[in-house]
Formats: sequence, C-alpha cells, structure tokens
Amino acid sequence: MKDIIQLLPDSVANQIAAGEVVQRPASVVKELMENSIDAGATKIQIILKDAGKSRVQVIDDGKGMSPRDARMAFERHATSKIATAHDLFHIRTMGFRGEALASIASVAEVEVKTKRAGDELGTYLFIADSELKRQESTRCNNGTNLLVKNLFYTVPARRKFLKSDAAELRNIVTGFLRVALTAPRIAFTLVNNGEELYNLPASGTRQRVVNVFGKQIDARLVPVHCETGIVSIEGFTCVPRHAKKSYGEQFFFVNNRFMKHAFFHKAVQEAYSGLIGHEMIPSYFLYLTVDPSTIDVNIHPTKTEIKFQDETAIFQILLASIRESLGKFNITPTIDFDTEGKVDFPVQEEHDEPPKVPSVEYNPGYNPFHYRSSLSRADSDFDSPVERQVDPSGAPARWEKLFQGLEEHGQEVQTEMPGMEEEQETRDGGGTFVQWNGRYIVTPARSGMIFIDQKRAHERVLFERYLESLEHRQVQGQKSLFPETIEFAAGDYLLVKELQGDLAFLGFELVEGKEKEFVLYATPPGLSYARGQVVLLDLIEHYKNTEHPVKEEMKRNLALSMAKAASLSYNTPLDKEAMGELFRDLFACKSPGYTADGRTIVHVLQADEVNRWF
Ligand code: ADP
Ligand code: MG
Repeated sequence: MKDIIQLLPDSVANQIAAGEVVQRPASVVKELMENSIDAGATKIQIILKDAGKSRVQVIDDGKGMSPRDARMAFERHATSKIATAHDLFHIRTMGFRGEALASIASVAEVEVKTKRAGDELGTYLFIADSELKRQESTRCNNGTNLLVKNLFYTVPARRKFLKSDAAELRNIVTGFLRVALTAPRIAFTLVNNGEELYNLPASGTRQRVVNVFGKQIDARLVPVHCETGIVSIEGFTCVPRHAKKSYGEQFFFVNNRFMKHAFFHKAVQEAYSGLIGHEMIPSYFLYLTVDPSTIDVNIHPTKTEIKFQDETAIFQILLASIRESLGKFNITPTIDFDTEGKVDFPVQEEHDEPPKVPSVEYNPGYNPFHYRSSLSRADSDFDSPVERQVDPSGAPARWEKLFQGLEEHGQEVQTEMPGMEEEQETRDGGGTFVQWNGRYIVTPARSGMIFIDQKRAHERVLFERYLESLEHRQVQGQKSLFPETIEFAAGDYLLVKELQGDLAFLGFELVEGKEKEFVLYATPPGLSYARGQVVLLDLIEHYKNTEHPVKEEMKRNLALSMAKAASLSYNTPLDKEAMGELFRDLFACKSPGYTADGRTIVHVLQADEVNRWF
C-alpha cells in the first residue's frame, strides 16, 4: 500500500493558522496596530471600508522594513522579535509568534509600502493566496502602509460568518481601544467609510482614558499606584458612586497587553465591597507590570487570559492598593472636616498585607429598631461598647477621626446629656441635628452641611449588625406566647428551608410544620411579633428578587434584605438624641457613605458651594 501522509502546502497551512489568528476584521486591525507599535510608530492611522470587510489599511511612521524583511515578514514563523527559546520568556513586544502577516496574506489580498528612514526608496509588495505576486521599489513615506483587501475572499464560508457591519465595527472598536489604552504616547485615528470615529492625540494615560471615554470621566477617576517586588500597579479606578450596572469600562493590562482576569476582577470588586451594590461594577484601567518570566507567555494570539505565577499575592496587592486609593481619594475628602490637605486616613505603607478594616461595635442585646427619645440611656448598650476597634498604631479607627475633627473644629458639644459617660460625649460629634423633610438629618461641619438620609443610614447600621451576627453570633429571638403558623408558596417554602439556619442567627425561630408550613416561635429582639412576621415576609420577598450567585454572597443578601425590611421609615420623627445616636452609629460603620446596595447615604454641601450663592 502507498504511504498516505503528506505535508500540507504552505497556503493551506497558513489558512489553517489564519483560522486561529484572523477570525474577523477586528483581529486584522489588532494585529496590524500591534505591529506598528512594535515598529516604534508615534502615529498610527487606521482606515476601514465596510467595517474592515472590504479594506483595512494601517499607516504608521515606524521603522519600516528593508526589501528582504518586507518579503520575509509574510513567511510563517517569520519574526524579528525572538531569536531563541530564551527570548520567549522575556517578551516585551506585542507580537512575537510571527504568524499574523502570513495568516492575513492567506485569507486576503495584501499590499504593502514600506521604507526605512535611511533608505531613499521604499518597497512595494503585492501578496495574494500566500504568494508574492509583485515586488518593486517605490517612493513612499518612512514607515509602513499596509492594506488588507477582500478579507476571506479565499474562504467564502468564513466570509458568510461575518456579522453585520455594525457588529464587526463594534468588535474593531473594542480591540482598537484595548490597544490604544496601552499606548497613550502614540497618536491614533480610526476612520470607517470616511467617518472619523476616534482621533486620539499622543498624551499621558489619564488623558487617553478621558479622550476615549469622555470628559466627564476625569473627575471620577481615582489614581492607583503601588510598587512591590512581585508586581507594580498603575492606573485608575473610579469613585464608588459612578460604578455601573454593565460592563464596558473594565481594563486590565499586563506588561502593556490587554488581559481578562476574572480572579483579579474579583479583587477590584472586593475592594469596593460595602461601597457599592453587588450588582454594580466599578470602572477600572489598571496597568500591571510583572517580570515577564512570571507569566505564561505561550498565549494564544486571540486569547486574552493570562496565567500568573503569583496570582494570590497579586490579588491581595490589588485589593489593598485599591482600598487605600479609595480611602485617600474618595471617601475621606467628601466628608472631611478639614480639607487643607490633611487626610486622616491611616495610609498603608506596605502592601504585603491587605489593610485592616475597623470592625463594628456590636452588642447582641442592643435593640436596633428604635431611635426614639424614650430610649433610656441606661438601657442602651452605648455605655458599654463591646469592642472598640483601635488601630494597632494607637490611632483611632478612621471614622472616629472624623469625630475628633468635628470637635477640634469647634462644634458645640452638648454637655448636658444625663446618664452619658464622658467618652460618649466626645463621640457625640457636636450634637446640632435637624430633621428635615421627614427624610434627612442635617448637621453642620466646618467644611459644609452634612445631609444624611435617615432610612439609608439606619439600613447601613442594621446591615452591618446583621451581617456581624450572621457571621459570628446568635441573636436570642423573642419568643412569642402564641406562635403562629405561616404558610409559604412552594418556592418560598424551599427558600425558607434553605435559610432557616441563617434566619435563626437573626432571631427568627422557625420550625417546620406540615404542608409547607412553618411555625414562627420567635422574632428578632426589638420587633413586635406582628412586625416580625411582616419583616420576615418582606425579607424573603427582597431576598428572592436579588441575584445571589455565590454562597458567600448569601449572608450579605440576607443581612441586606433584613436591614431593608426593618429599617426606620421616612417621616418617622426623630428627636435630637435619636439623631445623634443614628449619626454615631452610622459613622461607626465600616462604610458609612453608601448603603450595601450602593445608594448614597451621606452628602456634604460644601461651604464653597454655599459661598458661591452669595
Ligand atoms: P510578529 O509581530 O509576531 O513578529 P508578524 O507576522 O505580525 O509577526 O510580523 C512579522 C514581522 O514583520 C515582524 O516581526 C516585524 O519584523 C515585521 N513587521 C510587521 N509589521 C511591521 C510594521 N508595521 N513595521 C515594521 N516592521 C513590521
Ligand atoms: Mg505581529
């Protein structure tokens, strides 16, 4: 019998490779842009026709190619970027596989004009079907002007799989921006069918982000900067209240290459935990630099996932440095009582460990449901805080510094508060509180007027307490003498069954009866039994309607649902003491600025703004 194995002709081999490298016009644009960057261009123009289906032209002012190099560039595995296997682990260029041009030339017609700065004449090449059809000398500018025509004309089946022009163009823009964001010092223009879509002048990184995403983003950016032995991180995240419900402004780069990294994304998300709702996604533009030998370089050309050696460490470093940045640049200044450049936030010097978050004071006997003047101080747990979280350096936790700020800045301190211990007075934060519009607690500070949404504030306080009790201790429910039976719909019944244990931590004692029934024996302290029933049903309802994809999120959700159901409503009159207490409780929270689902609790009407009125 005859041997049957043969080598594939180059054109076929290249087409197969092209299946991986060149999937759509966007891949061509990306590869050519990267080549221009690698060639040291300072200006790159991209001109498309029909979203690249008819033409992709990329013009750069880079170093150009000699006649031989220009020809060689279209050979498979032809690259000027690596010479030895050792080089593979020290890649600093965007491309290195030497496949892009060969692949493109196997599925499209390519024309090139290229000239090196020192040469008088440049080279013109025409390649089709992986074959050099024409080569001649030509007059042209320094740099490379590469035109790709009739993409996939050799593989009609692939052409059919292309999407609408609008969809292909969207893909191109996505890829274009990923590259443009890694090279702010290079000017880029992108034109489709004669229409200029982007014109990005050479600039710094921040300005590039602003030029791409619009002026309004400038004020929202929070710089991140961190250098460690393992990784250095530069870039920006955004202030929490501008987190969005959808993806689109999340960018990680490693050694100047765009990457997707679900695990690192989690680190960012976690840095915002408590500052934004869990369905909200912060924008970020983070540039990581690592030793190239610590990442997997054998990256598939179209894949954007990258493996890191020190993934867990980098996770922690990301988390810590973003938290620190948010602390420095966002939260503190908005409620800072003295804005003269003194930010009383314990700045983390070392990034080896994530920052310690002050823990919440908690008293299991505390009745969180009533902020009333009738609340007797003797009964209140505030006279005996269970634990006072103090910074290891001896400095008070960050929010307490705010109170010190208040005092130092000459707020009136009410001295006559019967039954209160001294420490309490100093923590009272001034004591001038006005309830306004049935909704806001208003109190003056040096830098302006603080407005607090009473319901949201209470929700935050309750949320942190509930979360704490869910995580650590059991609350004694109040037993009812006449426990009632609650019948649940099929779905709810299963949910209650699943949550039964956690509900018990909150003080709901439920025992399964017959026929999808539960008997409610006890409700959380501070709720009447009747109110407890309502809160239970409300919280199940809220819990059901929230997405809770991961197990760890469950407790947060439960705590949030419960806090929402049990929090003080608007138009509940509050007297001064009740307001003061809520104020203190709020600022004892880990994240007083926002509700757990990301709504603003506190706003400071800046003195400057008021002054401008007059
Ligand atoms: P790779 O970028 O992986 O090396 P390519 O097929 O994309 O492979 O390019 C092959 C080679 O052609 C590059 O290594 C480079 O030497 C040369 N080249 C490609 N594009 C340009 C350009 N715009 N300017 C100068 N040289 C280029
Ligand atoms: Mg390349």
